[in-house]
Amino acid sequence: MFQKVTRMTRITVDHVSKEYKISSLDKPLLAVDDITLQIKSGEGVAILGPSGSGKTTLLRLIAGLESPDSGAVYYEDRSLREIAENERNIGMVFQDYALIPHWEAQRTIGFFLRLRRREGEVPAHVRRVSHITGVGLDHLLGRFPKQLSGGEKQRVAIARAFARDLNILLFDEPFANLDAKFRATARLELRRLLNEFSVTSVIVTHDQHEAASLSERIVLLRDGHIEQIGPYEHLLQDPDNLFVASFIGTPQFNFFQGVVRDGQWRHPLLGNVSLPVRVAEGTPVTVGIRPEHVCLVSEGIPGKVTTVTPYFTERYILAEVTNGAASWQVQLSVDHHIERGEQVHCRFLEDGIYFFHTQKEYRLA
Ligand code: ADP
Ligand code: MG
Repeated sequence: MFQKVTRMTRITVDHVSKEYKISSLDKPLLAVDDITLQIKSGEGVAILGPSGSGKTTLLRLIAGLESPDSGAVYYEDRSLREIAENERNIGMVFQDYALIPHWEAQRTIGFFLRLRRREGEVPAHVRRVSHITGVGLDHLLGRFPKQLSGGEKQRVAIARAFARDLNILLFDEPFANLDAKFRATARLELRRLLNEFSVTSVIVTHDQHEAASLSERIVLLRDGHIEQIGPYEHLLQDPDNLFVASFIGTPQFNFFQGVVRDGQWRHPLLGNVSLPVRVAEGTPVTVGIRPEHVCLVSEGIPGKVTTVTPYFTERYILAEVTNGAASWQVQLSVDHHIERGEQVHCRFLEDGIYFFHTQKEYRLA
């Protein structure tokens, strides 16, 4: 059997900022804004966030492809600046595969080992990757990139990233260019590789499900700063603020904006939902409740079903219920019979209610 690779590296990102000067803007764009982060040796972390939130810039700073304007990145206790490139042992995979057009797959995969005059190890590497992923690569080895499908290109790029001395693996939206069906397969193959190679890994993605399945902790970014760090479940159940709550979890939260009067949060529809923290009179408060915590009852908040959307693979139906200007989603089991136009009554389960400051966005309770 193959030996496990056991070398790996703790990564520290210490107050790192990076800005870009853009001629059309009067001040520089702060792509990464004072980020501090520890990644344990052998840990898998996902950097998640919307487009433009600074994910790629942060990954490139971690890789040493960009240098920070302030702060520093450390591998173990050594500043990345002091580590020679050929000592960093980083495998990288990009969204666009980054294959050299006139190289066959064999040459691409063997690139790093050939540099170190260890070509002899290439066949064993190809066998190992094939064995772990369950996908044979032999028939691809003689092909040029233009003779490979998108999924095959990414397999070659991933095999290249693993075929070297490896301490850190970095991925930037590796599956973004693949169609949905292949993305799921590719994710599973990568999961198997990560299980077998004990390396520190950082994966950038805007897909929360990909982040959840390929990492132990998620770093959620917005506008260059960290909104929350933690396991997916933690972000899902204990969001620090409105942004995290609205980004994490499918289907999305229902949000209702109200105001606190006489110590009670009020919304014309939801009656006297009590707010178990003391906030100042007049504070604008947003209540969030997930569609799974709304149920249909015989007497409750009335509304009319305006859309019914089945999600067969997830085994649920989402019904949108409307009452005046307010509407919300109810999650029902897939065998529930409900039709558009039906009059229903809803109840919001108290255990599922979250309170946020509407303007400052932080969680109140
Ligand atoms: P993400 O990967 O989350 O989509 P990026 O890290 O690529 O975000 O970009 C963060 C911000 O920095 C964006 O507003 C982007 O337009 C800007 N940016 C990224 N790279 C450059 C660059 N080389 N020059 C100027 N602006 C850039
Ligand atoms: Mg990006």
